[in-house]
Amino acid sequence: MISYNEAVDLIKNEFAKLQLETEKVKLTDAVGRTLAEDIVADVNLPPFDNSAVDGLAIKYEDGVTEWKITGEISAGNYSGENQYGAALIMTGAIVPPEFNTIIPLEDYDIVDDTAKLNPGAFVKKGMNIRRMGSDIKAGEVAISKGTLLKARHLAAAASCGKAELLVYKKIKFALLATGDELIPVTEIPTNDKIRVSNLYSLAGAVIENGQVTDSHGFIGDDKEAVKKKLEEMLESDADIICTTGGVSVGKYDFVKDIFLELGVEQIFWRAYIKPGKPAFFGKFESVNKIKLVFALPGNPVSSLVNFEVYLKSRIIELYNLPPVEKITAVLENDIRKNDKKRHFVKAFLFKNESGGYVVRSQISQSSGNLVELSQANCLIEIEEEIINPKKGDKVICIKM
Ligand code: AMP
Ligand code: MG
Repeated sequence: MISYNEAVDLIKNEFAKLQLETEKVKLTDAVGRTLAEDIVADVNLPPFDNSAVDGLAIKYEDGVTEWKITGEISAGNYSGENQYGAALIMTGAIVPPEFNTIIPLEDYDIVDDTAKLNPGAFVKKGMNIRRMGSDIKAGEVAISKGTLLKARHLAAAASCGKAELLVYKKIKFALLATGDELIPVTEIPTNDKIRVSNLYSLAGAVIENGQVTDSHGFIGDDKEAVKKKLEEMLESDADIICTTGGVSVGKYDFVKDIFLELGVEQIFWRAYIKPGKPAFFGKFESVNKIKLVFALPGNPVSSLVNFEVYLKSRIIELYNLPPVEKITAVLENDIRKNDKKRHFVKAFLFKNESGGYVVRSQISQSSGNLVELSQANCLIEIEEEIINPKKGDKVICIKM
């Protein structure tokens, strides 16, 4: 069986070969997407010298403190007509070549049609002018390819004349749950049935990480039926196939074998981690496209932990999303761990009165407890060599 680090390296290796497709989206739809082109300024920004303040445009002369006001320049209304003397000017209005300095409104008083500099006010040649091209020159890159687009990027993109942006397409995850015990959320469980919860936690994880899902619902442990479903998923336009359930060593766990029968190449099956050991990872080549295949265990905590530790950081790397937050905290309770697996313990991270991080894992670690899973806000990552971490020990918490 391979180690956690080996498993992660194998997954990284395949993700590095993925060729993300691109698509054009409207500027406002580009927020949260990752830019697939350099945005180049098609004009100088700002496109002309303009005033940074409301005030008086003058031609600077040493010692002069009074100016006759002969005109007005408002933003967006410049006719090109020559100005002389001094002109009232508005913020953002062009500074015609006749002027070279702007005095802010609060630094002078106007008596009749003459502006007089206030005592103590100071005029420096060239002040309060935003120069043409001072932000960026035409032809320069304003926003680089690979940037995760936020609201603050859109002004620059708009000013470069881009109504649409080329962004990386979202990864489409085909999702399927398997198990005879599964029933729809809308039904009341009777006997030995449970509601299919993993479909939703996995879909949530996909969406939380900015990608899209294509749910294939759930299916019982019927080999032929499962095979048909998996075939359908492999033939779909999804980029990643992700199943949950039926991948362990039980009599009815045949998801992995079916994937292999259908031509999926196994990259690994089972890594030495807890929870989530049974996960299978492979790839499938269909018409000039490689699909990655993750068959995750049915255990609701295991499948979500698998997503968090195997998939999340890969998506983050591809799309330049904000990195996973890892926080060092003091353990509030002992943890039992007497094997050499990498453990990911769901836990509750909080700050104590003095502002230090503390983490409590004494919520049961039964992987089936879903409400507890909902209350956990982190995974404590415990490396292979560490045995039975004790209350007071410092541990690394991966925020969820
Ligand atoms: P399996 O990996 O198929 O052996 O399932 C492991 C455990 O997870 C069993 O207790 C299943 O009942 C449970 N389980 C499997 N699939 C789901 C699912 N989609 N939602 C909730 N629990 C599941
Ligand atoms: Mg099962």
